[in-house]
Amino acid sequence: MTKLEVKNLSRTFGSTRAVEDVSLNVDEGELVCLLGPSGSGKSTVLRMIGGFERPSTGSILIDGADVTNVPPERRATGMVFQSHALWTHMNVFANVAFGLKLRRLGREEIRTRTERALNMVGLTGYGNRRPSQLSGGQQQRVALARSLVLEPKILLLDEPFASLDQHLRERLREEVREIQHRAGITMIFVTHGQDEALALADRVAIMRDGRIEQVDRPDVVYRQPQTEFVAGFIGQMN
Ligand code: ADP
Ligand code: MG
Repeated sequence: MTKLEVKNLSRTFGSTRAVEDVSLNVDEGELVCLLGPSGSGKSTVLRMIGGFERPSTGSILIDGADVTNVPPERRATGMVFQSHALWTHMNVFANVAFGLKLRRLGREEIRTRTERALNMVGLTGYGNRRPSQLSGGQQQRVALARSLVLEPKILLLDEPFASLDQHLRERLREEVREIQHRAGITMIFVTHGQDEALALADRVAIMRDGRIEQVDRPDVVYRQPQTEFVAGFIGQMN
């Protein structure tokens, strides 16, 4: 079943064509990586899907409904950024529970859902800690839990592990995979790391200069690059 339809999306900033005629369908429960060099338009596509940036032209459908003009908080999407910006004056539990409080849910439901989200990211029992008492990887897990607790239909991740070391990145990658399998959540994961995209993705969309050059399963992208650019970009892997 198609969860997300991105149709002919474009976005210009002044004279910069950040995104040009991008179309992409994502199935329910699928993990698609947007892969491309810096400045290729990945974040702009993701921000438009999340509703944080308005498309110049084109449309976005979730579950068949046009959400192009729907604000972020009513899109059923969740977003995780590279800089997690946790609230340092609140403990981990409060950081994760915050979005539920805004929704005015009851105390017990907030507790149950927050604990479930912390459990999902392997942080059971960390609720009373302050963000400053956690490692960088654990803080990024809290950021992930903060999105998961709202039970988004589509989780959008923008280079969420870019600031972490290789070892941690690989562990969190596994965790994202597991969450995606267990919760059946649809994900779009932005990265400029070929190894990350090829390890994580059901399908990879390779971007260059605001356009998608190829969308395929990782093994297909690797064996049958459709353009010189894709061949070169994938070839940088070792
Ligand atoms: P990526 O995430 O692949 O690095 P971006 O989507 O951030 O790429 O940026 C694509 C292009 O759009 C870049 O040339 C960038 O400078 C430009 N751009 C992105 N956001 C803005 C903005 N708010 N104002 C002006 N230019 C922008
Ligand atoms: Mg970016």
